[in-house]
Amino acid sequence: MAVGDGDRVTRCAQGHLHWGRYGAAGVLPVRDGHVLLQQRARWTPGGGTWGTFGGARDSHESAVEAALREVGEESTLDPGLLRPFGERVVDHGGWSYTTVLAVAAAMPEVRPGNSETRAAAWVPLDGVPRLTLFPPFAATWPELVTLLAEPTLVVDCANVMGSRPDGWWRDRPGAATRLRDGLAEVVRAGVPDFAGLDRAYPRAVLVVEGQAKGIGSVEGVVVVDSPGEGDDEIVAQAEANAPCWVVTADRGLKARCQDVGAQILGPRWLLDRLP
Ligand SMILES: [Zn+2]
Repeated sequence: MAVGDGDRVTRCAQGHLHWGRYGAAGVLPVRDGHVLLQQRARWTPGGGTWGTFGGARDSHESAVEAALREVGEESTLDPGLLRPFGERVVDHGGWSYTTVLAVAAAMPEVRPGNSETRAAAWVPLDGVPRLTLFPPFAATWPELVTLLAEPTLVVDCANVMGSRPDGWWRDRPGAATRLRDGLAEVVRAGVPDFAGLDRAYPRAVLVVEGQAKGIGSVEGVVVVDSPGEGDDEIVAQAEANAPCWVVTADRGLKARCQDVGAQILGPRWLLDRLP
């Protein structure tokens, strides 16, 4: 393992030559109906066309790590402004390109960071097809544009706890804390095949009620203490965060969440994924 060890041409199973011995990755930052795109320098393959900031992965890098590193090298954007929420992979066999979708906390002016970049711009979504696009990006854009909303996972803490007889009734705050920390692990590692993405890193909201209140939030999981009925708070969260998936087995709650556009997952879906 070494910095830059992926920087070489490789041949995929379909016989093409590609840049990136360990595959390549790029980032598509999104904010307020705009995406950040790179105009490639004239001397690069596809010179002058627009696409994602990105490049070859090193052997030790995840796609997210590589994509954030590349945008930091090729532009003046601070990668710390980005929160990755999903990955879409084009796999040729022996080589793949991962587009990392990320919410940007702001839309600062972005300038070229090195000689691979001719220009950078926040482009309105409907303006993207009017640019001369880098052909592989042009091929994936019609799908990517449907995936630009950060998914949210809302968890009905009492219902999920109650579906697993692990002694939760003796120590509700302790059981809620275990669920919160397990949920944090799940979203940190990413959820395969979720929300139309090959891997998703959803926002997680854990709604707690009664004696389990007060455990507090951790990185990756916002814990909401329900002021009254837990169900009302869960419906409010589902309504405020689209697209949303609610984890509960409560029949009445399921219907209310579906009425505000949320999708439903059973407790088993989450329990099977906990560490
Ligand atoms: Zn190929």
